[in-house]
Order: sequence, then structure tokens, then C-alpha cells
Amino acid sequence: MSVTNSVTEVRPRRAVLEMPEYHPPLAGRTALRLDFNENTFGPSPRVLERLQKVTLEGLTKYPEREGVERIVAAHFGLQGEQVLLTNGVDEAIHLMCCAFLEAEDEVVICTPSFFMYDVSVTMMTPHLKRVQAGPTLEFPFERFMAAITERTKLMIVASPNNPTGAVVSREHLLAIAKAAPQAVMMVDEAYYHFYGESVMGDLAAVPNLIVARTFSKAYGLANLRIGMLAGNARLLKYLKKVSSPYNVNGVALDCLPEALADEAYLAWYIEQVRVGRERMMTGLRELGVPFFPSHANFVLMNIGPKHKELVAAMRAHGVLLRDRSADPGCDGFVRITIGVEEHVRQGLAALRSSLEEIGWSAQQTGEMAGHKDHGSVREFE
Ligand code: PMP
Repeated sequence: MSVTNSVTEVRPRRAVLEMPEYHPPLAGRTALRLDFNENTFGPSPRVLERLQKVTLEGLTKYPEREGVERIVAAHFGLQGEQVLLTNGVDEAIHLMCCAFLEAEDEVVICTPSFFMYDVSVTMMTPHLKRVQAGPTLEFPFERFMAAITERTKLMIVASPNNPTGAVVSREHLLAIAKAAPQAVMMVDEAYYHFYGESVMGDLAAVPNLIVARTFSKAYGLANLRIGMLAGNARLLKYLKKVSSPYNVNGVALDCLPEALADEAYLAWYIEQVRVGRERMMTGLRELGVPFFPSHANFVLMNIGPKHKELVAAMRAHGVLLRDRSADPGCDGFVRITIGVEEHVRQGLAALRSSLEEIGWSAQQTGEMAGHKDHGSVREFE
């Protein structure tokens, strides 16, 4: 059968035409990578040992997620039905939107935050409310609460947040979940290990709470693409329903229990970052560079008009930084990842030289006063 009408080419859904795109600057990352908040050392040696045992037969088999989900669940004191392993938290966010959002539903997030929320939400609904953080980039709790309506179906809060490093108290996170029992409250704990406070222990008592964790950061497995969602079994049933049975590859599934078991390695890496973060913040104070105190494995600096020049000068010194100037309310801001001691030392040394080379002085930033509190809720539509 042939169809005769005026449309001669395939068009995507309207939401796909209108959604924003995310293109992280991935090309040519051969220098010291202090740009993507990765682990700068490498994962536990137990992961490499496991990788060396990968067999051809293992590669031919479809991956089986459930057994590893039970191991991960036990690690967190949960049941297997309460955990979904995902292709990174990126996929977890996408599955949350697929499982819970209708085109008329509202979603509330804070901005600046992780851009994949915008991408996955607007794929499903145009009703994205972005609550702008204030001048100190602290989480705008009152305005976030005020943005919740009876049409709200999903709230996403990262704590610690990216790119600000700010955290949200457990009391505030639970108050948000309670304010909208018809909505899912997703707490993105991608940077949990560098902070230490979690709402994972509240899952049993808060039926609309979902916690996301990644193994890309503290565990150093960004390239294996593995993350997770945890929550009550009723909500997880829907998330499992929309997920492909083979969303996580078998090599990642083989390695994850090894990474989880090596608690000494994890504790060592976290301590490296905690000490390095203090050292970086002290160094920035000495250099007169304004920054936002961070609870994550990165620090957001306010460089001002010379932000691009700084990123280029650092690259020439063999250190990659991430320019966050395009984020709402972040004009002139640049983010630096905190890794192991040696990498923090290299980062600081390159920063000292680069600032001098570009003729940067503290006055040019306006001491963060130029960073305006919009005090508003901006709708994506
Ligand atoms: N959430 C936040 C807040 C992030 O910053 C990131 C990665 N930059 C992610 C989630 C995604 O992590 P993954 O590698 O697990 O997809």
C-alpha cells in the first residue's frame, strides 16, 4: 500500500526536535584530565585482575544482570528487587523519565545542575521547571518547594551537585519528597563518596524516593558505564519494565563485585580526594581565585572574563579544565577535578603559571558580586 500526502520525509517527535543536545568536549583528551570529574588514578587492581580473566566464551554470552543486582543490593542492605543496574546514571535518568513522565507532567530541577536532566526530561515533556540557585550557588530550597504543584511528577536533586559542589540536607530532601507524594523524588548521589551523607537509609520509609549512584567517579569505572537506581520494589518494577534486559554489559557486571569488595582501595581514593580538595581550596585562596566550597571531587572557580584564556593556557600546560560559563548563572566559571595528590599538585602548579601568563588578577572577577541571583523559576518551554 502506498500513502499519498504532502509529507515526503520522516520527522522525529516534536519533543525530539525541541529538546537540547548535550555534546561534552570529548575530543583530544590526552593531557591530565581534570575536566570530567573522573577518578584520576584508575580503579581497584582487583578490577584489572578480573578483566584479565575475560574469556571468548564470556564475550559471546548475553549479560545476566540479576545475580549482580543481588550482590549490589546486599552491599546496601537492600533486596534485589530494590536495585536496577544501569548503563551509567545517564541511562538511569533516561529510564526514570521513560517510566514516569507523560507529556503533560511537570518536572522540577535546580539549575545549574547536571545537563542530562534537561535532555532526558524534555524528551518526554516540555514542562521542565528550572529553579535558579542563588548567588552563592546554594540549593534554592524555598523556591524549589514553591515550584512544586499537583502536576509535578518528578523532582531531581543532585547532592553533591555538579557543577557547584553544593549539598542539600537530608531534612530538605525528605521535605521535598513529602511535599509531592504523587511525584518521584530522585536524589542523584553520583558524588556521594566525597561527601559521606546519603538518603539511601530512608528508602524504606519514603515510598516516592529513588536514589541514583554511579560507579564512574570514586570507583573509577566511567568507561565500563555502570550505575544504579535504588528504591522501593513497587517503583523499581516499572523501571525494570522499561529497561532493556541487556542494558549493562557483562564485563562491567563481572567487574562490579570486585570493585565493591575492595573497600580499602575505595577508602584510600576518597581520602586522596578529601585531602586534595582542601589543598586545592587553600591554593585558590592563596592565588586570590574566588571559588565555591565543594563537597565533591571538583571545585568551581570564578575566573571572570578570562575564563577561555585560562582553559587554553592550562591545556598548553598539559591540564584539561572544564569551562562552565555557558551554564545558567555561571558566566566566567571554570571547574577543576580533584584527583590523587600528585594530580592536584600538577593542577595547582599549572594554574599558578597559567594565571600569571594570561595576566589574570583577582579584581577582574568582581569577587563573585557580578553573579546575579535571578530569584526565578525558568520554564524550559
Ligand atoms: N549525575 C551527575 C550529577 C553527574 O555529574 C554525572 C556525570 N558527570 C552523572 C550523573 C552521570 O554519571 P554516569 O557516568 O554514571 O553516567
